[in-house]
Amino acid sequence: MSDCIFCKIISKQITAKIVYEDEKALAFEDIHPQAPVHILIIPKEHIPDITKIKDTETVGYLHKIANKLAEEKGVSDTGYRLVINYGPHAGMAVHHLHLHLLGGRPLNWPPG
Ligand code: 5GP
Ligand code: ZN
Repeated sequence: MSDCIFCKIISKQITAKIVYEDEKALAFEDIHPQAPVHILIIPKEHIPDITKIKDTETVGYLHKIANKLAEEKGVSDTGYRLVINYGPHAGMAVHHLHLHLLGGRPLNWPPG
């Protein structure tokens, strides 16, 4: 989608610190990290948000990548959080489905 910031990261029109890429997904460091490890994992297909998924595989695929990246970043043993925000109360800002991987510090629960 032409005016989507994450589609522009996929097409390399906007630069990002990419940490993983394959034919279906991309992962890159969040520009405003909320933890020492804060990575966004996205499908290359423009899916606007979690309510618009058409299959059950896509979200699981993103989670598999997140688990692999958590291992690589060394937060598997200490733990990490995987988050998908939806709607204004959750603070969703970018309308291209993305999974947050947060780790590297204790994370409060419940979240703010
Ligand atoms: P949301 O609140 O929609 O779940 O999360 C969107 C995330 O995207 C935020 O954590 C924000 O910092 C991140 N973000 C927004 N624009 C950019 C960008 O241009 N580059 C990168 N790397 N992250 C971005
Ligand atoms: Zn997009």
